[in-house]
Amino acid sequence: MTPAWVGLGSNLGEPASAVENAICELESLPETQLAARSRLYRTPPWGPEQPDFINAVAKLETGLEAGTLLTELLAIEARHGRERRERWGPRTLDLDLLLYGKERIVTNRLEVPHPRLAERAFVLVPLAELEPELEVPGAGKVSALLACVDASGVEALAP
Ligand code: ATP
Ligand code: CA
Ligand code: CA
Repeated sequence: MTPAWVGLGSNLGEPASAVENAICELESLPETQLAARSRLYRTPPWGPEQPDFINAVAKLETGLEAGTLLTELLAIEARHGRERRERWGPRTLDLDLLLYGKERIVTNRLEVPHPRLAERAFVLVPLAELEPELEVPGAGKVSALLACVDASGVEALAP
């Protein structure tokens, strides 16, 4: 089993329930358990003008290979009606594979650690809630990365 961290985001439809439902779907993937999950956070949009996002991070323990896990993530997004139009545009559900064990992977469809993880407060805040001491291969500790970004707009939602 390998620990894998998944970043969840949504800003169309019912974002909070989309993220909660997606966490349940992650939990029911084959050979996979949900080890931990963050609270939900409301975060300012990144990229083009659009509604605020709801973001969270889930930690899985999985027997799936990284590429298979990515395929499963894309299938969950598709079931939530994900459409890809403009880059970084609004979406019903986005699932990014942030980290897969200590592995560094670069293929034509998958890059791990997620290449923009270290600059994104909406990823680092929920990741630090779960595991501040976690080492991001090639980048440093989550807590140190978080200290270098502006996290002022990222707000935890009441449970
Ligand atoms: P960003 O990657 O900047 O967060 P995005 O999530 O909006 O942007 P998508 O349109 O969801 O980008 O993904 C485009 C492609 O990125 C996916 O089809 C997938 O093949 C590829 N990809 C590469 N690395 C990863 C990763 N670590 N997690 C998820 N998708 C990845
Ligand atoms: Ca993303
Ligand atoms: Ca994505």
